[in-house]
Amino acid sequence: MTELTLLLIEDEPAMRRFLRASLAGHKLVEASTGAEGLLLAASRAPDVILLDLGLPDIDGLDVTRRLREWTTTPIIVLSARHQDDDKVAALDAGADDYLTKPFSLQELLARVRVAARHASGAAKTESVRHFGDLVVDLARRFVTRGGEDVRLTPIEWKLLATMVRSSGRVMTYQQLLREVWGPRYATQKQYLHVYVGHLRHKLEQDPTRPRFLLTDAGVGYRFKEE
Ligand code: CA
Repeated sequence: MTELTLLLIEDEPAMRRFLRASLAGHKLVEASTGAEGLLLAASRAPDVILLDLGLPDIDGLDVTRRLREWTTTPIIVLSARHQDDDKVAALDAGADDYLTKPFSLQELLARVRVAARHASGAAKTESVRHFGDLVVDLARRFVTRGGEDVRLTPIEWKLLATMVRSSGRVMTYQQLLREVWGPRYATQKQYLHVYVGHLRHKLEQDPTRPRFLLTDAGVGYRFKEE
């Protein structure tokens, strides 16, 4: 990974120390309040923002909303277990991904790598995506598994293509329902579960232990990183 400028908005000194050590290969800009974070986001033009949800001044969810008024810089929220609802709200408000504390260095680096790749546009230029023996051609709209064509219905295709375009990143139930079925269906989770089941049967070796179409419990789904 090339050197990135990362903005960390986090009030806990111990968490800042951990991230400073973990992200030593990158330039880390630190803020301990939401207000400071908002200023630095504008003045330092970070590649990725790591945002704690529990800040002393402005709620992390509000920081997300305020950032999304003017920037598309990827936001990865850092949440504690008891902030699960806030985490989903932050994702629905435009955050790109999340990490639940405590998280591993490996998880952190994977999230940052995916976020930076999507932000750079590198993920958008190639229409053919490879996931092991699964090949998805977004331009020509076909899928093969082990070289065999997989037949999908229009809704199944739309759901798959939506997730593949964001591979490696979580998509909330609400985001998927809005994109695939439309805004009026944003709460109809049962449609999503049914179609995810169909896709898993067609794409996965063992649909009960998916390798591609992964569940993020209580949040949504994540297609495997390419
Ligand atoms: Ca905090």
